[in-house]
Amino acid sequence: MSENKLFSLAGRRALVTGASKGIGLAIARGLAVQGASIVLNGRDAGRLKEAQTQLAQEGIEAEISAFDVTDQEAVIASVKDIETRLGPIDILINNAGIQHRAPLDQFPRKDWDRLISTNLNSVFFVAQAVAQHMIPRQRGKIVNICSVQSELARPGIAPYTATKGAVKMLTKGMATDWARHNLQINGLAPGYFETEMNAALVADEKFSAWLRQRTPAARWGKVEELIGAAVFLSSDASSFVNGHILMVDGGITASV
Ligand code: NDP
Repeated sequence: MSENKLFSLAGRRALVTGASKGIGLAIARGLAVQGASIVLNGRDAGRLKEAQTQLAQEGIEAEISAFDVTDQEAVIASVKDIETRLGPIDILINNAGIQHRAPLDQFPRKDWDRLISTNLNSVFFVAQAVAQHMIPRQRGKIVNICSVQSELARPGIAPYTATKGAVKMLTKGMATDWARHNLQINGLAPGYFETEMNAALVADEKFSAWLRQRTPAARWGKVEELIGAAVFLSSDASSFVNGHILMVDGGITASV
């Protein structure tokens, strides 16, 4: 492998789940800039087309594949369709996720189920469907989006925290099972980023003040700041990195 091509993604195809906005869209754009062909996923085809148009205006071509990551049959069929119609998926960014805030003693069962299904089951469903194609090729990269909440608890989000803790350990388990097939499976754990998921927190000055005080970098993250880590974990530069969770959190988990 040529050292100046270590981070190149030319000739690779990446499927990014939950890529109609926020972190997923930023990572997809970043992978494309390094040469990857990208496939954007989300549930809403209209929103995906808007993202596709936005990228086209920047000179970036993107394919779209609308499916619900919680629906295992749809996941298997969509992965098969991408592989047949477009070609091999070399990189999977397992990013789709949701948040729900409520007092734990009153946390509704339906929201618990929705969180487990979207944030945890989907990571297994999509990774398994993609790995079944990667394993015979003996090559592939899977990046599961974890969270600072894989490491730290915060009030009001215990079920979300449970899903992200589980994704961290699922990542290590996948690496343990699939590294022998030359698959690299790692986690990328964002701190606090200004996306729609956090719109209420961004608008809450008290929360932002707490965040600035709690985070060594003393600010919110910008989604573009996740691209470097995503490119590293998707490229040949990470060929012997497996089961690692890379924190991109302004130092929040480094400090008490
Ligand atoms: P956003 O709410 O901005 O975007 C979420 C994306 O996921 C959308 O594209 C949404 O599209 C898609 N999505 C949601 N449910 C499904 C589903 N069932 N099937 C397919 N796609 C789905 O979130 P963020 O960008 O903030 O978060 C992205 C990931 O990063 C999540 O896993 C989140 O937990 C994680 N994270 C975020 C942090 C932050 O500070 N923002 C911090 C740590 C982790 P649509 O609704 O159209 O389906």
